[in-house]
Amino acid sequence: MAHFQQLEVQLKPADYRSDIEPTWCPGCGDFSVVAACTKAFSELKLPPENIVQVSGIGCSSRAPLFMKSYSVHTLHGRALPVAVGIKLANPNLTVIVQTGDGDLFSIGSGHNPHAARRNIDLTVICMDNQIYGLTKNQVSPTSREGLYGSLTPYGTIDKPLNPIATMLAYGATFVAQTYSGNPKHMTEVIKQAIVHRGFSFVNVLSPCPTFNRVDTFKYYKSRTKDINKELGHDPTDYSKALELAFHDLDHYYDPNAPVPIGIFFKKETETYHDRVNAVKARYKAVDKPTPELIQSFVDACKPKAI
Ligand code: SF4
Repeated sequence: MAHFQQLEVQLKPADYRSDIEPTWCPGCGDFSVVAACTKAFSELKLPPENIVQVSGIGCSSRAPLFMKSYSVHTLHGRALPVAVGIKLANPNLTVIVQTGDGDLFSIGSGHNPHAARRNIDLTVICMDNQIYGLTKNQVSPTSREGLYGSLTPYGTIDKPLNPIATMLAYGATFVAQTYSGNPKHMTEVIKQAIVHRGFSFVNVLSPCPTFNRVDTFKYYKSRTKDINKELGHDPTDYSKALELAFHDLDHYYDPNAPVPIGIFFKKETETYHDRVNAVKARYKAVDKPTPELIQSFVDACKPKAI
């Protein structure tokens, strides 16, 4: 049985679209992400009223507006802590964070390790276009070295952050990469991320044709390689996942290197909520705590040698 609420009948993907027309530039990769999400919601039979989508600030953070679900448009970089609070308050909800590379890996980056290591049961979809689009062309944490932007007229001298290796190191229990030019792959990966019980991270390579003239659909088309189907990668193998992740950015330095897409890592283990429930069960059992019991709790809090 699924760990999330499901409808008895299947709604169409269009039933998950809101009445608001996207304001993105023509050709933006983020259109496909909304299409893949609504298809995934439909195939998983998710009740729209049971989905909460949380976003920060940026072009990608507008995505929830264009879908029929509850949504919270938070502050820059703050989608994750709001999403964690929502999930803890009501674990029956399907909580999805819609974010971008700047929002998640720059101003919001301090939240990532903690949501991942705690294995909070939610899905983070990062539309990674390697640029700040909404504020008009500044390089982001995932921009390749040398990329030009409005504040880096000689090209950035920063090395890019590796989203896949970062999330694996933080302890995320589902880590994947997909590409918005491959709607079938993207829908399948998003579905699996939602089905995963625990913290799931999906990096979507989602071109910004307005400002990033290097990481384009044309660029990715000939380079993406499915690590599961084409390389036979087993996502339960953490060591291999790390090894593959460290090759994720090779194409920045070697034009012939492939861009890996697929599920790098997946592991079913206890979630933060399981641990919360264990604590609740322990303390609920105590209707009338005695002074001795209270003292035992106080003693349990004292520092101990390991
Ligand atoms: Fe998309 Fe770039 Fe336009 Fe933003 S600026 S809507 S990311 S194409």
